[in-house]
This record gives sequence, structure tokens and C-alpha cells, in this order.
Amino acid sequence: MNKRKEGFELRNTDDKGEGIFATKQFSPNQIVMNGIIAKKLSENHSHASQVGEFEYVLHAGLINKVNHSCDPNCGIRINKTGAHDFIAMKDIAENDEITFDYAMRNYEVDYFPKKCMCNSLNCRGAITGWKDLPEDRKNKYAGYVAPYLLVMDEKVSISIEKNIDSIK
Ligand SMILES: [Zn+2]
Repeated sequence: MNKRKEGFELRNTDDKGEGIFATKQFSPNQIVMNGIIAKKLSENHSHASQVGEFEYVLHAGLINKVNHSCDPNCGIRINKTGAHDFIAMKDIAENDEITFDYAMRNYEVDYFPKKCMCNSLNCRGAITGWKDLPEDRKNKYAGYVAPYLLVMDEKVSISIEKNIDSIK
């Protein structure tokens, strides 16, 4: 497959090991990487993508190599196959590293080193899951996160309301 035509390729980053870099420009809302499910998993795993409350998949190809950033240029949308497409959230220039926030994909992050190396101005310091994301970040990512995360938030807020009711 012609990687130039695809619009991204694997390269070495300065300090984070391998990463994925754009080989052409992308505009906001353009699909940057098309997700393909390689395998369904019964539990979480360091390269797994969460696609349901207890469902995880492994994506095929280079999508697994996309690094986390606390100020990402891509977000996630579910495609027809149930896989995650990576969508540009802002203008991406040729040679920019393609990044997303792991919190857009996983409700809880258990398998990553605690310290974040994204070097962005708003770095959270640690790579956390959706569960631990501040509300303003969640709002900023609206439309760019795996939809079941919102379903899980809904469940949590319902159970909190129930607890408050039981205290009354
Ligand atoms: Zn960070």
C-alpha cells in the first residue's frame, strides 16, 4: 500500500519511541486513519480499544501506534464496522505527529506509565481515562470520543443520584 497516499506513516519521535506522522494536510473533521478491527478481546490490554462497557478490540495496522497527547489533533468516531476512525479535530500539517487522547477511547487507563510525555501546555501530567477527565475537557472533546463513554457517564450519574436518594 502506498503510505504517501494514505496520509500517514510510522516514524521515530524525539523522545517517545515510535509515533505516527501526517504525510499530507488534513482539515478538521476529515478522516485521518480508518479503523479496522483485527481481533475481539475479552479483557483490557495495553493496545486494546474499548468499544463497549466490557468489550475491547485490537485494531489492525498503525492505529495502535498513535501516541497520546493531552492536546490532541485527532478524536475518535465509530465507523460502520464498529472500529474507531481517527478524525482531525483541527488543521493538521504535513509532518505533524498524529495524536489523540487515550481518554477518548478508554474509560479507565490501567496499562500506561503514570507520567505523560506529551509536552503540551495543558498536559495533565498523567495519562488518565475518561472517568478522570475534567468536565471542561469532556466538553471540548464532544463529538470526538467513543460513544459508550457517554453511556457509562450516564450510568454513573444515575447511580450517584440513587445513592443521594437513599441518603435523604
Ligand atoms: Zn500530557
